[in-house]
Amino acid sequence: MSVPEFNMEAFLDCLSKHTIFENIPIKYAIEDNGKSFYKLTIKVRPKLVADGLDDDAFDVTNVGNHLSALEFHKLVESGEHLVVDMRNHYESEVGHFKGAICLEVDTFREEITLVSEMLAEQKDRKILLYCTGGIRCEKASAYLKHHGFKDVNQLHGGILEYARKIKQLNLESNFIGKNFVFDERMGESVNGQVISHCHQCGTPCDTHLNCENKFCHLLFIQCPECAQKYEKCCSEECKDIKNASDLEIQRHKLHATRKFGNSKVYRKSFLLAKKNTFVNSNSCSE
Ligand SMILES: [Zn+2]
Ligand SMILES: [Zn+2]
Repeated sequence: MSVPEFNMEAFLDCLSKHTIFENIPIKYAIEDNGKSFYKLTIKVRPKLVADGLDDDAFDVTNVGNHLSALEFHKLVESGEHLVVDMRNHYESEVGHFKGAICLEVDTFREEITLVSEMLAEQKDRKILLYCTGGIRCEKASAYLKHHGFKDVNQLHGGILEYARKIKQLNLESNFIGKNFVFDERMGESVNGQVISHCHQCGTPCDTHLNCENKFCHLLFIQCPECAQKYEKCCSEECKDIKNASDLEIQRHKLHATRKFGNSKVYRKSFLLAKKNTFVNSNSCSE
């Protein structure tokens, strides 16, 4: 949630007076345009991460070694270890750690099983996991340890904490591009670099949006020029549907049903799509 800077201390004081909030980790955003979680939302969920994993199948409390932002920074810099991005591909496409393994997956469940299979021959190596705020890594590290990985480490506080610390210490970031976040900003830039491309014309761009055709709602990257040309839609087809009258939509209802059901679908980057190959994994080399 957003708190005016001059009220921050009073807010933290007030929070710490409630025993349930004692020692709660606070994560600070580094960029704000007034849209960052401007109201507090509390949701009761059966699980913190909807990971689809059977919690009884492994010890979820046997987590990896927590590394501070600075420790993580130095280990990534050495280039000797396996750096693994535990987020989905729409997150890593716009920003990731240098040399990280970023998988082409839509869900955490896929991510975690694929990582374990892919690195099966490298169980003795030092593994450095990271995610947005460190929560997904709690689960991922326990899962990997259960599957025999010997030296599992994770970035404490995630990219959010890393970005804050790097700025504070004035260090050159080993995270390049934008950190995707789930509020209306859809991301905050960490080092100012744009590493992804508009999915329609290929120009450098890292702005995510959902297709304005409500039957499509595809998450994709679109530059301002294409946003104007396609009226914030992912295709000419969607633009036509968006502009159709209710009567026309009724008439073509069969064609206008959501293309992808309710699953979260993301279009791959322009350049990847152009290669026209489906790869299960790729190492982010940028
Ligand atoms: Zn474009
Ligand atoms: Zn669309």
